[in-house]
Amino acid sequence: TKQIYAFSEGNMSMRDLLGGKGANLAEMTNLGLPVPHGFTLTTDACHDYQRTQSLSEDLLVELDQALDKLRTLTGKQFNGAKEPLLVSVRSGAAISMPGMMDTILNIGLNDQTVEALASLTHNVRFAYDSYRRLLSMFGNVVYGIGEETFDQVLTDVKQANGYASDLELTAEDLKQIVGQFKQLYQQAGKGEFPQSPKAQLLAAINAVFESWNNHRAQVYRQQNHIPESLGTAVNVQEMVFGNAGDQSGTGVAFTRNPATGERQVFGEYLLNAQGEDVVAGIRTPQSIEVLKKEMPAIYDQLMDIAEKLETHYRDMQDLEFTIENGKLYLLQARDGKRTPYAAVKIAVDQVGEELITKEQALQRVRPESVSAMLHPEFDANDLTQKTPLTTGLPASPGAATGRAYFTAEDAKRAADGGEKVILIRQDTSPEDIDGMIVSQAIVTSRGGMTSHAAVVARGMGATGVVGAHEINVDYAAKVAHVNDSEIHEGDWVSVDGTTGNLYLGQINTTAAGVKGELSTLLDWAKDVAHMGVYTNADTPQDFQKALDFGADGIGLTRTEHMFFKPERLLQMRRLILATDAAGRADPLNQLLQMQQEDFYQLYKLAGDKEVTIRLLDPPLHEFLPHDEAEIQAVSKQIHMSPEQLRARTNSLKELNPMLGHRGDRLAVTFPDIYQMQVRAIMSAVIRLYDEGLEVHPHIMIPLTDSKAEMAWVRDLVSDQIKEMVDNSGVRVDYTVGTMMEMPRACVTADQVAEVSDFFSFGTNDLTQLTFGYSRDDVGSFMPVYIKKGILPADPFQTIDTEGVGALMKIAIDKGRQTNPQLPIGVCGEVGGDPASIEFFEQIGITYVSCSPYRVPVARLAAAQATL
Ligand code: ADP
Ligand code: MG
Ligand code: MG
Repeated sequence: TKQIYAFSEGNMSMRDLLGGKGANLAEMTNLGLPVPHGFTLTTDACHDYQRTQSLSEDLLVELDQALDKLRTLTGKQFNGAKEPLLVSVRSGAAISMPGMMDTILNIGLNDQTVEALASLTHNVRFAYDSYRRLLSMFGNVVYGIGEETFDQVLTDVKQANGYASDLELTAEDLKQIVGQFKQLYQQAGKGEFPQSPKAQLLAAINAVFESWNNHRAQVYRQQNHIPESLGTAVNVQEMVFGNAGDQSGTGVAFTRNPATGERQVFGEYLLNAQGEDVVAGIRTPQSIEVLKKEMPAIYDQLMDIAEKLETHYRDMQDLEFTIENGKLYLLQARDGKRTPYAAVKIAVDQVGEELITKEQALQRVRPESVSAMLHPEFDANDLTQKTPLTTGLPASPGAATGRAYFTAEDAKRAADGGEKVILIRQDTSPEDIDGMIVSQAIVTSRGGMTSHAAVVARGMGATGVVGAHEINVDYAAKVAHVNDSEIHEGDWVSVDGTTGNLYLGQINTTAAGVKGELSTLLDWAKDVAHMGVYTNADTPQDFQKALDFGADGIGLTRTEHMFFKPERLLQMRRLILATDAAGRADPLNQLLQMQQEDFYQLYKLAGDKEVTIRLLDPPLHEFLPHDEAEIQAVSKQIHMSPEQLRARTNSLKELNPMLGHRGDRLAVTFPDIYQMQVRAIMSAVIRLYDEGLEVHPHIMIPLTDSKAEMAWVRDLVSDQIKEMVDNSGVRVDYTVGTMMEMPRACVTADQVAEVSDFFSFGTNDLTQLTFGYSRDDVGSFMPVYIKKGILPADPFQTIDTEGVGALMKIAIDKGRQTNPQLPIGVCGEVGGDPASIEFFEQIGITYVSCSPYRVPVARLAAAQATL
């Protein structure tokens, strides 16, 4: 089979065979654009090379033919005495792997042709500069001689002459450097630098094929899930020289602004320079606008080409161009990298310009990048001035600046006094909620991505960094030690939840939200996606935020979060500590009033959107006093002696509270708590009926293990509803569903479905129990597991499809055997994770539910999973 294609023989659909660079050079050639002539050795040739470790006879024959053709097209040839043919040898796989493989420029130069080039261009300096570049690139790529070895020679010459930069090197200096570079080949035991252009070319092709297997390329492929079998193509292309004088130059251009997305060509160039120089920052490049004045004809031609290429590729392009003696050449085109803002603006604008369809626009934006658009960000310029003090896990994105406080109480007091505060703690617990609510950011030294601090921060949309191990908070002294530095109470700190960095001092931020083009894009996503996107919200504020972000309703209300406000905590404590039913009656009644109001507010805000309320889930001890000081205080509040209180608290202590007396187990032992919650829900529903709003409550039971258990709790709930319905005369449609978070419930899901109106996977607990990982303690080993490749990712952040995912599939199959229409949701942290959402679409999940700030991310991911 054919293993070499002239640029004129290929096209953009041949990416797999010609690589991205080769396919686009071919496409541009056939569009009639000024691309220097050349040809591409296919990825098949690379596979062949990988098998035999040599270039095949057939390939060598084709190569000679291709070179013949190139000679005809260019009128130049290898070793040509007047106009020598010089080429670049450029790697290029089907998927771009920037900087991972090699490119060699100026192949064909030797002791004779360098002189020919010098007289042709009347520029001895340029010719020898090109030669020394070839010698160092070739030596490095082909022979593995370290770049620093060559750099050292340059440095020595500059030092000896007192030069500040490479630009000051004279033609004579460069000749001397060429001589020394050749000696480096000898010293490295590589013999003479090959003078034959053909030998140089063959060695370069070999080396580029070889570079597919270099260490950094392998690591890059692993990280980016690029298959090993892809292979690289090799492009051989006639050199054009941007460093041939004042009428020459080189540059890069984007067809739209890659930072803002504005429809305006954005670019930079340098006169009298070679391709690499713009990127390498040897000189400060000029804005493309200056080219308009310096070379108006070239500028106009470039603008025409930019327009033509964008229309052709239907996406923003990143172009490499070179001007040689007043003539423009294109050396590369590819889809340009862009910021999240630009990605969204360009995609939506291009639909308006009828360049792409809405479906294509939805595929153009990475869901994760939407997240970056919703939170404030640090001013990029300000940030470059700063060095992070320490780094933790990036638990909740955003950028926050404020004064440091170490207890919830102190933070609350400072915030009430009008300060912006950052809460820094070893870890947080539900009691810290008051302080957390008022904080711009929450930083902890312990805990993983699903630790309390992380979940709460994400839920509130506060910036969060957790597991920053280097922080050591001395609560008594009100100071945090970070290695040799100290943060005192009230000091200014800045927290970047996207990178996990903590900084001393203030950094300016810029705000964001769902508006403009993003809002348009998310509307399209909603039209397309199979799965619904709901939110996890416990308060009207959170819910409102989620509604602003386009949530379909509430998929999970964690009612326990409502109990941690001070006046409720008191009632909760009275309830738990009471020793008989009589003692429980009053606190239950008080909580009933408050919960009813909570639910009323949520339902009212929801209107005709659905709301799923989960009944009480956490272990009781979370509500109890934790230390002696608290015991003294609570004892006064609830009129119980400290001794009695201590004894009762101890009796409720559990060794493994997360596996203990919680969830529906509490309903079985203390039915009146769930009864109260159901009454609160129904009271709110009946009240809204009177106001003309028909609500269909969805009640969710946590921690279910079995059909028998679910049936028992379901009866408890139904009886309570029936009683209230009978008394009020209002007919209410309601559903009672199961949290799927216990492996046993998953494998018996056919039975559980007999008594469940819906399932909702609680992937946090399900993952915890499937792995046997305590989710609050994983910080101590999870990062090591990921680093050592034992885990591909944190399974609390991205669903473990093989293990936890298999259990989910069993549960879905069995559940739908019993009830084919069974709605099945996911309400754990992974409900907002794009990779997980793709998997959920495959296994037939009906909807996901996630924290408000993840709603737009999940929406876009759900649309992409459908497309
Ligand atoms: P990468 O994939 O790392 O961008 P390239 O193959 O694009 O590597 O080459 C690196 C640089 O060399 C580019 O900036 C390009 O402009 C320049 N270059 C490559 N081939 C030629 C050529 N035939 N003529 C002039 N410059 C070239
Ligand atoms: Mg390039
Ligand atoms: Mg749970």
